[in-house]
Amino acid sequence: MKKVLFWFRNDLRLHDHEWISEIASKADVFLPVYCFNPDDFGMSVFGFERVGMHRKKFILENVWALKRKLQEKGSDLYIAWGRPEEVIPELAIKFSPDVIGFEKEFAWEEQQVEIRLVNNINNRWFVKTYYGKSLMHPLDLPFSITKLPFQFTEFRKQVESNWVIRKTYSEPVHLPFWPKEIEHKSGLHVLPVSILQALETLLTPYSFAGGEDAALIRLQHYFWGTQQLAKYKETRNELLGTEYSSRLSPWLSIGSLSSRRVYEEVKRFEKDITANESTYWLIFELLWRDFFRWVTWKFGKRIFYLTGITQRIRNWVGTFEDFERWKNGETGVPLVDACMTELKQTGYLSNRGRQLAASFLVNDLRCDWRWGASWFEHCLVDYDVCSNWGNWMYIAGVGNDSRKDRYFKIEKQAAQYDAQGLYVKTWLTNKSYHALDRY
Ligand SMILES: Cc1cc2nc3c(=O)[nH]c(=O)nc-3n(C[C@H](O)[C@H](O)[C@H](O)COP(=O)(O)OP(=O)(O)OC[C@H]3O[C@@H](n4cnc5c(N)ncnc54)[C@H](O)[C@@H]3O)c2cc1C
Repeated sequence: MKKVLFWFRNDLRLHDHEWISEIASKADVFLPVYCFNPDDFGMSVFGFERVGMHRKKFILENVWALKRKLQEKGSDLYIAWGRPEEVIPELAIKFSPDVIGFEKEFAWEEQQVEIRLVNNINNRWFVKTYYGKSLMHPLDLPFSITKLPFQFTEFRKQVESNWVIRKTYSEPVHLPFWPKEIEHKSGLHVLPVSILQALETLLTPYSFAGGEDAALIRLQHYFWGTQQLAKYKETRNELLGTEYSSRLSPWLSIGSLSSRRVYEEVKRFEKDITANESTYWLIFELLWRDFFRWVTWKFGKRIFYLTGITQRIRNWVGTFEDFERWKNGETGVPLVDACMTELKQTGYLSNRGRQLAASFLVNDLRCDWRWGASWFEHCLVDYDVCSNWGNWMYIAGVGNDSRKDRYFKIEKQAAQYDAQGLYVKTWLTNKSYHALDRY
């Protein structure tokens, strides 16, 4: 009898899941586990929680949705509050699995957790990992990670010239039995109240519901319902509304949606509806996402250094008070304040809004860019180590950008992207305006 323990991380789905589709056919007994790691929910060195309310809520919803999905397939999810490197070996002692599986992450802190886990397992159980976070499988890249081109354009040219995107895995119909050694009923009640309280955060018209079903509904809506995908390239830089871009990032970040699934859907759309610059551009953006994964993998801890991956020294003279005003949307510059208000109140901000708000912090206020990156980490429902720190380094002039200082002139941005002032009005008229009030 084959007994499998699988540790879910940022791969909270059953569709296109290499391991889950294999387990369904090969295992007899199956223990799926999710750990809320207290280290992830601590304080940042800058004095605020690493995970803010919107992101907490989104994580909780995704984990709960996964539990429900597993139950529908005859299994369940063991939810723990504890460090994975401690929880998993403790469960393994009770359950004696033949294999322990998990998805490999590319970021430094997450890799340290893996290393500690493998040390604690100490060869007592067989460990098998997989890669599922990227569009291209790392083994299919035309170069080794150490030879990753420094600039995106060169990277794209090399991968696009002859690329292979692996097919998605099918979702299992049934999953193997739950192990009799393990208490079935572990649920969210194991978590501290301070985390559970996030479930009371009010929904807004801009909120994201957790879980793969919600992800697939959004995919269906944006691609097939409104066919907005066909206009994506023209609308993707807008600021206001919910339809100017795909808004798939939160689910992609937590892994309740796979990027290969999005890719296949784009290809289907191209075949059935239209293939144009917009459909290409969505894949282009998924390639950016991949690129930052490989940058993070290659440079490890250096993505968190003030000098980034270029070791460039800049004069960061901005004060923490300047940063506080920025973060609270109180700089006095309406477009920046509107962006920061939207971010705080909803946990999401358009790509254009992120770029110009980040540029303002680093180029106008000259604040340490890592303060901004950490604040985004706190706020964003789509927070992803690689995309966040990679984009921040890029804008701070210490990342993979050939132009040293990517400066967004705010007046010009306002004239181009908010000429009627509607975006600013939406988020700043009566600062106590809450999208919440409209719901
Ligand atoms: C300072 C800054 C911080 C950012 N932090 C994050 C983050 O923590 N998590 C995150 O997912 N994205 C981050 N981004 C990238 C980008 O802003 C978001 O992915 C995008 O706005 C999400 O909205 P969407 O799903 O509608 O994107 P779309 O425009 O519809 O793009 C489709 C998908 O492509 C990927 N993508 C798009 N743009 C980028 C990009 N510039 N870099 C990497 N991937 C991209 C995303 O997965 C996105 O869902 C950041 C950008 C900046 C400038």
